[in-house]
Amino acid sequence: MTVRVRFAPSPTGMFHVGGARSALQNWIYAKQQGGVFVLRIEDTDAARNKPEWTEGILSALDWIGISRGSYEGPYFQSSYAAEHRAAAQRLHDAGRAYYCDCTREAVQARTGSQYAGYDGYCRDRGLGPGEGRALRFRTPDEGETVVVDLIRGEPTFENRLIEDFVIARGDGSPVFLLANVVDDLTMGITHVIRAEEHLPNTPKQQLLWDALGVKPPVWAHVPVVVNEKRQKLSKRRDKVALEAYRDEGYLADAMRNYLMLLGWAPSGDREIVPWSVIEEEFRLTEVNPSPAFFDEKKLRAFNGEYIRALPVDEFVAACQPWLTGTDTIAPPPWQPEEFDAEAFARVAPLAQTRIAVLSEIVPNVDFLFVADPLTDEAAWAKAMKEGAAELLDAAIAGYEGLEPWDADALKSTLEAVGAERGLKLGKAQAPVRVAVTGRTVGLPLFESLEVLGRERTLARLRAARVRLV
Ligand code: GLU
Repeated sequence: MTVRVRFAPSPTGMFHVGGARSALQNWIYAKQQGGVFVLRIEDTDAARNKPEWTEGILSALDWIGISRGSYEGPYFQSSYAAEHRAAAQRLHDAGRAYYCDCTREAVQARTGSQYAGYDGYCRDRGLGPGEGRALRFRTPDEGETVVVDLIRGEPTFENRLIEDFVIARGDGSPVFLLANVVDDLTMGITHVIRAEEHLPNTPKQQLLWDALGVKPPVWAHVPVVVNEKRQKLSKRRDKVALEAYRDEGYLADAMRNYLMLLGWAPSGDREIVPWSVIEEEFRLTEVNPSPAFFDEKKLRAFNGEYIRALPVDEFVAACQPWLTGTDTIAPPPWQPEEFDAEAFARVAPLAQTRIAVLSEIVPNVDFLFVADPLTDEAAWAKAMKEGAAELLDAAIAGYEGLEPWDADALKSTLEAVGAERGLKLGKAQAPVRVAVTGRTVGLPLFESLEVLGRERTLARLRAARVRLV
């Protein structure tokens, strides 16, 4: 039997990191089993779906290495409406489903609770189809439904506790529970690897598989992803969109390595490992069923390590989207013609060891390309304390005839200027740094001045001096 897995996102918003994790687990499982990965876009919720979200899913998957053309699909759930309806009809004709015209209020009035499930009122009323009549699945009164789950063992559900659930709405349209099963069945899916949030649906869906006369798939419900307060990651509260991480400058390799650590770890004490190791060592059956903490700080640290590990030319190439701006990344504060690739190449290795996400490249190098430094007023106030004006005067005097204009000479000159005033180099640097870069922190100062050049450095020091008068 060929293993066939699927990833079945709904295009109702940005692509959730938890979804990306499930997609990768499906992807690796298929690869390890010599199986097939199917992408199915569950686009039947017309009110919430937008085509751009589908495009977002495809490009986000592509970004983390599940590239277009290397999987089966995408199929669109909306194209299978006829199959969904036919299955609903079959279940009805076989006596496994019945029409029901109960309103929610009527059920509540009978059961005395808004939380009680459906009470089976229409089970034996023999209603035919009609406007406003939902189709309900007749769940067995006895027995158990045993879900075979590669991660959770055999969660077992008593059938008598499963209500007669709706499979098609009053307008005849099938609901998610049914459409999802019919698609899996139509597409020959053998393993359903999906988020834990769907586990409550699983016994109902397995009953549907049984009723449709097909052996259910093997299930694997991967752990819910939570924030530091152990709350489920939510798009209203947390940063969950894979696209947001991409546009902030997370590297795809760092991201997918980190996502695979949600509930699993490679052998040894390692966490940062090449993708090939993950593909070889990952075991779905070893995934920890407990909620997985999405630790953004750790991801950031990971990303910094991945950035530092890049060859410099790859780092330079990886920075390009932030140096120019794209459809989704804001343009930098300089004009395209102000950018100097050679100057950038000189400071790139200094930046590479200091940034954790690629977008941080911009505030580190903007002083080289903008006409005037983008001065942060808080930084200015902090650095331009008493004595700053005199210090700048001395620095200007020292730098005017400096030969050679290089980091060593720039440093020893300022060291001497500071020493005359009883200042350590760090203190002496602060007004110069803010005058030239507009910030209190940044790349090593003297290398920065070397690349910026004598003329611009002096012009900025003088402009700052004027401001201090
Ligand atoms: N469309 C469902 C979701 O995005 C997928 C359900 C499943 O994987 O079975 O949650």
